[in-house]
Amino acid sequence: MNRRTFFVLLGVPGAGKGTQAKLLEDRLGLPQISTGDIFRYNLKNKTELGLLAQSYMDKGELVPDEVTIRMVEDRLQQADALQGAILDGFPRNLIQAEALDQMTAPYGGVSLVPLIHISDEDAMLRITGRRVCRSCGAVYHIEFNPPKKEGVCGLDGGELYQRDDDKPETVRNRLYVYYKQTSPLVGYYFAKGLLVELDGNRSIESVQSELMELLAEKEVAQ
Ligand code: ADP
Ligand code: ADP
Repeated sequence: MNRRTFFVLLGVPGAGKGTQAKLLEDRLGLPQISTGDIFRYNLKNKTELGLLAQSYMDKGELVPDEVTIRMVEDRLQQADALQGAILDGFPRNLIQAEALDQMTAPYGGVSLVPLIHISDEDAMLRITGRRVCRSCGAVYHIEFNPPKKEGVCGLDGGELYQRDDDKPETVRNRLYVYYKQTSPLVGYYFAKGLLVELDGNRSIESVQSELMELLAEKEVAQ
């Protein structure tokens, strides 16, 4: 069997999945696949998919499964995912998790599911202070991970902006949607023996080193 490595990062919005996935991407040589980023890219380019996703994203609701699953299926077939991928923001409900199992079954299935824990209060603080580079998508925080120059991306000089759905009203609904639809995945992956849990309430670097240790321990990354 042509084995591939698939990590699924779980955690409430703001837990640090994207931040950690970007760091892992460099270290492991696997692409980060963020469904949120793909939807935002489509939104920016006003594609049909972007226009469809927008109304759901604005409300903090999930984009319909059919569309999201097909999008991930296509993405996993691209050349850079030949060794596997780090999934960030997908799956977000049981239907998507089952679809991912089917997609990855020929390659040995999902390898490991790190769950990053933070409190809801911290999630609110993190998301409302999040700023994103308009050109490269790099993620900052006005207080916890500030850019060297206010409002400017340290990587490519792009403008930093606040996502529309990072306003407090929408964030509350996104947390609600997480508990209602995404949190059952914790039990789903625990039952499969794939769940590992870590405390996300520490520096970005400490979370990253623990994540690397866990992956090495489970022998899914050397
Ligand atoms: P998610 O992808 O889970 O929604 P992000 O990676 O986008 O989370 O992080 C949410 C916000 O919290 C960002 O502004 C990011 O800079 C910040 N952040 C991420 N990890 C940490 C951490 N360990 N400590 C403090 N802030 C963090
Ligand atoms: P966060 O990093 O804060 O958790 P994301 O960037 O992952 O947020 O997602 C932003 C929005 O994109 C979600 O609120 C939802 O509308 C849509 N979205 C992202 N991933 C999925 C998914 N797997 N299924 C359905 N909708 C999704």
